[in-house]
Amino acid sequence: MRPTWAEIDLNSLKFNFNQVKRIVGSDVCVLSVVKADAYGHGSIAVSRALVEAGTDMLGVATVEEAIELRESGIKVPIVLLGGVQPEEAELVVRYALTPSIFSPSSAEAINRYAYRVGKRVRFHLKVDTGMNRLGLGVDEVYCFLNCLTSLRNLELEGVFTHFASADSDSRDFTLKQISSFNLVIYTLKKAGFSPRYMHMANSAGIQRFPESHMNLVRPGIMLYGSGKLGQWELKPVMKLKTRVVQLKSLPVGSPVSYGGTFVTKRPTLIATLPIGYGDGYMRRLSNRAFVSIKGFRVPVIGSVCMDMTIVDVTDVPDVRVGDEVVLFGDDGIKVEDIAMWADTISYEILSIIGKRIPRIYV
Ligand SMILES: *Cc1c(COP(=O)(O)O)cnc(C)c1O
Repeated sequence: MRPTWAEIDLNSLKFNFNQVKRIVGSDVCVLSVVKADAYGHGSIAVSRALVEAGTDMLGVATVEEAIELRESGIKVPIVLLGGVQPEEAELVVRYALTPSIFSPSSAEAINRYAYRVGKRVRFHLKVDTGMNRLGLGVDEVYCFLNCLTSLRNLELEGVFTHFASADSDSRDFTLKQISSFNLVIYTLKKAGFSPRYMHMANSAGIQRFPESHMNLVRPGIMLYGSGKLGQWELKPVMKLKTRVVQLKSLPVGSPVSYGGTFVTKRPTLIATLPIGYGDGYMRRLSNRAFVSIKGFRVPVIGSVCMDMTIVDVTDVPDVRVGDEVVLFGDDGIKVEDIAMWADTISYEILSIIGKRIPRIYV
């Protein structure tokens, strides 16, 4: 097997989950977000560990992600955060999933199917308070509630909204979203609805806006040990590792990798690593990133290829073929560093780690 792997530390995952519990308190339920294969960590193993740790619910983006979890024996409620298509109503019922609904037409479609098979479907109403992506407008809620009273096979179990900028320096926008959402709750109650769950906080909201905790929170990135915004410690869950597969000594003036974007300025010892952009180690990291070998931080030189990456190991004493290399998650190289070098966020770096890379659970 190619010596490239991702170590997933399930104890660190549970530690981070317990940090969430510690922040929000025991009265607040937790919906752990495991969309996009649990941010690249492997959704089945991660979900099992989170269920063991006591998560009340799981959240995914698509029906396929939810079905994968049900088929692996996961029994806790699974909320479809990205909504459902009318033609997915049958799967929602068959796998006992909790859809989020944000339009009268999708509500009607699910109600129609649930009526046909004699089931009641619990759902969460998604309200858009400023993200301007998915959700019912605040001014459409009242009208939606009127239409809901005739949809006998639907039950409003939850209502939620999503923050656009809870991690940004300015708190104003998030505070506006919180007050819009409170208005929505007021409208609901006045219309005689009292959904069991009210929720808005993502990881940033959990850490920075206690007033957004309501009675359910939806942590994602912080479970995986990134997105730290408060005094609470989080532990990285994924360590991405590989091994040196070849060493080569090059004279001054040698171009390295495709296009020769790096040319040696000294006699250079290079090491080739069996990982590339086809594994999610982005090409953007060419001539920008660092890796760690035997505790030494060494630069990526030349273009990252689809399956291989080259680093300068001239300054690493006694380096050998087969030596372990840390790409991130250990030895002081954080996933946030990779994100900075690639001009993106840690979410993207984690979630694009490819299928070719085996996840080893420790
Ligand atoms: C992805 C997602 C989350 C988790 O967000 P983090 O920033 O990773 O904590 C929460 N809620 C919804 C609706 C999401 O789509």
